[in-house]
Amino acid sequence: MAKPVAAWLKPLPQGLYCVPGDFFIDPAQPVSRAVITHAHSDHARSGHGAALATADTLAIMRLRLGEGAPRSPQPLPYRQPLTVGDVTLTLVPAGHLLGSAQVVMEYQGQRAVVSGDYKRAADPTCDSFEVARCTVFVTEATFGLPVFTHPAPEQEIAKLLASLADFPERTHQIGVYGLGKCQRLIALLRQAGYDRPVWLHGALRSVTDYYIGRGIDLGPVPSVADSRENLAGEIVLCPPSALGDRWSRRFADPLIGFASGWMRVRGRARQRGVELPLIISDHADWPELLQTITDTGASDIWVTHGREEALVHAATSMGLAARALNLVGLEDEGE
Ligand SMILES: [Zn+2]
Ligand SMILES: [Zn+2]
Repeated sequence: MAKPVAAWLKPLPQGLYCVPGDFFIDPAQPVSRAVITHAHSDHARSGHGAALATADTLAIMRLRLGEGAPRSPQPLPYRQPLTVGDVTLTLVPAGHLLGSAQVVMEYQGQRAVVSGDYKRAADPTCDSFEVARCTVFVTEATFGLPVFTHPAPEQEIAKLLASLADFPERTHQIGVYGLGKCQRLIALLRQAGYDRPVWLHGALRSVTDYYIGRGIDLGPVPSVADSRENLAGEIVLCPPSALGDRWSRRFADPLIGFASGWMRVRGRARQRGVELPLIISDHADWPELLQTITDTGASDIWVTHGREEALVHAATSMGLAARALNLVGLEDEGE
């Protein structure tokens, strides 16, 4: 008799633990053996011993964590099965950001997929999400409410370009998270034909240079620190924490924007003083969550973080088994 997945994949205080493979997936605490879905800080903590992930995830962890990067990194290409203990493990693209992967585990004829964070929308900076059929599908629910439907990113980019045309005397200062969103926003601007420099805050430099080094064409992306001008009529990207702070005073009448799935919520934009909310998300929206659950063919849905109750309820209504794992430590850093 095949063992049910719940007998060998367990939510422990450190994180989700695969018993026959003896590893944790995206553990919240340092562990001796980890499998990492992607390099966002809530999934890729510092201090692990061995860590298996895509080469891009491991390289970005090294960039961001320095000494805290895994002592013994083990890169695994997409779609290449590997035997770990008694489990066959495969990484497949999650479409969330460069290097992001879903962890596919097979044991005694059962298949479980831990998707990490994912999206289905096209992203010129990373491989697209691939459906992996499974019995148990472990999903996030960051935007797990029916109100969350993300518009086409092209539409949001058009908003930004229209604002530049309307206010050529103002610096357009856009808050973006440093890993994934920043590079995707630049790539979307290039796709829309914008070929002016996109200016970067120093905190966005190293990861953006890594993407460029991996062959992703982002066009001219100079550092703000290298200019003496007030950058009127230019696009400046910065971490959300730098919006409206002292650093912004050098710019020409800054017009504050923020690129995030949360910009769907008007109150959030107002709270941050955001004049130009851009709803651009690297997480699945509500329809994508439901579609993905259906596509995987899973009969059992485990929800890691976000709006667990609503998604559990929706999955149950679809005739599936569903549960909230209540894992600690997962947030939405990249959003
Ligand atoms: Zn996350
Ligand atoms: Zn993430």
